[in-house]
Amino acid sequence: MDLVKFMRMKMSDQVDHKEMYIFGAPACPGIVIGNTSLFQRVRPHITDTQIADDEAEDHIRKFYEAIDIAEEELEELLENTDLKASTDLIQMQIAILKDPELHDRVEQEISANNKPVDSAVESIFRNYLQVIRQNHGETFQNKSVDISDIRDRLLQIIHNKRDDIKEGTILVAKELSPREIISFSNRDIKGLITDRGGATSHAAIIARSMNIPTVVGTKKATEVINSGDEVVLDGRNGEVVVYPKDETRKKYKSLIAQQSKRQADFESLCKKPNKTSDGTPFTLQANIEFAEELSIANKYQAEGVGLLRTESIYLSRKHFQDIDHQVAFYASILELTAPHQVTIRLFDVGGDKFFGDEEKEQNPFLGWRGIRMLLEQPKLLKNQLRAIFKTSGDFMGRIRILVPMVSTINEIRKLKNIIDEVQKELLNEGINIDKEIPLGLMVEIPSVALKANLFARHADFLSIGTNDLTQYTLAVDRGNERISNLYDQRHPAIWQLIKEVAEAGERNGAPVSVCGELASDPIAACCLMGLGIDTLSMNAVVLPAVKQLLRSNSYADMQRLANKALQAETLDDIDNIFSNWETKE
Ligand code: PEP
Ligand code: MG
Repeated sequence: MDLVKFMRMKMSDQVDHKEMYIFGAPACPGIVIGNTSLFQRVRPHITDTQIADDEAEDHIRKFYEAIDIAEEELEELLENTDLKASTDLIQMQIAILKDPELHDRVEQEISANNKPVDSAVESIFRNYLQVIRQNHGETFQNKSVDISDIRDRLLQIIHNKRDDIKEGTILVAKELSPREIISFSNRDIKGLITDRGGATSHAAIIARSMNIPTVVGTKKATEVINSGDEVVLDGRNGEVVVYPKDETRKKYKSLIAQQSKRQADFESLCKKPNKTSDGTPFTLQANIEFAEELSIANKYQAEGVGLLRTESIYLSRKHFQDIDHQVAFYASILELTAPHQVTIRLFDVGGDKFFGDEEKEQNPFLGWRGIRMLLEQPKLLKNQLRAIFKTSGDFMGRIRILVPMVSTINEIRKLKNIIDEVQKELLNEGINIDKEIPLGLMVEIPSVALKANLFARHADFLSIGTNDLTQYTLAVDRGNERISNLYDQRHPAIWQLIKEVAEAGERNGAPVSVCGELASDPIAACCLMGLGIDTLSMNAVVLPAVKQLLRSNSYADMQRLANKALQAETLDDIDNIFSNWETKE
């Protein structure tokens, strides 16, 4: 432990602490109060002396003992998790532990090079990481976390140095690997706070899927929090209160009581039908990117997936080329969501999501993105379409394809030709496919919304992406914090465009849904319903709140709300209309 930290801990024994707030990104909602455990990855000091020849046998035995213990621990984890991505990860780590090549190399390193067991393990894993870096380029980062994790696990066992995380505490760490989160969840960890990471990192998604209240990216939690400190973690807004005062504790305790009551209400609410108070039906679906997110989506009775983002397949370069991997991924999502539909969006890459520097552009969000890029990368596009159609044979009538960033009719024509080609190829190969997969367009560019009447004639359905539609309509980069005050999806101009699209869809028999964040806002969801959009797709955690408001109001009331929103001149007007409506003034 460094001296500064040690001094601070000593001082913390004596000093009466002042309440302190730190902020990060909310990664999983929920409030918890508790004492912390500080987690540090233990990288034991590696022995650098050589061993005598007659010690080799003893070191080799220690290596196999460590392998057995690590394997047993992972098997136990495997039994306790039913999340697909988590089991994949654990199985991959078990396979590494069982790998005869690893065993031979470590044995060789010990007996031929007289290395002690820890040094042998460290050097063999260093080689592994180098090979992965050469072969996997940008995906190195993700894979290296999992492989280093296995190495650290073995070294900790060899040195008999395990973390001392206490059950029932809130864990504070610089960063966490997905495997670490899975294993902590088995130790009844109440919450997670990290210095690094964003709300959409893989680790945050795993935390969310396990429903562990989490705040990530606080930058300094491990600096200001000591093991054993009392904290309040508010995963709804990314707030952490360290050394809470009595009144703060009291306030949060009553919020926790409300939260548990709400949770119980939510669970019974989710079993009720999706109908407004005057009986108009609606459909609520989930936006997901990883199978893990389905546990919450299913708990909250999502009726399928309205947006399956596939960019993570693309970004792990190896997987988009591997059609079987894509098929396995799509099939796992379809299995977990039966009997509902899954809307698979084609890779929406470009913008800020690229492998490397080679494609960097001056204005990436106005550039080579989504379908524009896919049509110029026929292999990439065809691989994805092949994977989707190959999957479809086993899930007839359940897949829909969604096209991102459409801006011209020509793009749709070209895409349809490629789809025809792919279908023919697969049929010639004797592969069973669903030939009637509906093709939908994302409406996220203002010109498409304005000409929705035209676009609707070329599509089976339309899905409004309000996240991008807002940035393009208001000319406000959705990721630029400097102008984030100007980015608001409730803007009157957005309501105007949504109305155009809803009407165009209706006229042309193309169902319209919303999959942008606007649908996650309960009053906005009522307003969308009032405009006739009865299918909404959102982050699963907000499904109950949206459902609650939709169920407790009449469709007629929602139409009145929508009419008012369409007459609003400014955002302030919208805010007033919405808050008056909510309080029924
Ligand atoms: C959108 O733009 O509203 C949308 C749902 O897509 P994404 O957030 O993935 O760009
Ligand atoms: Mg978008």
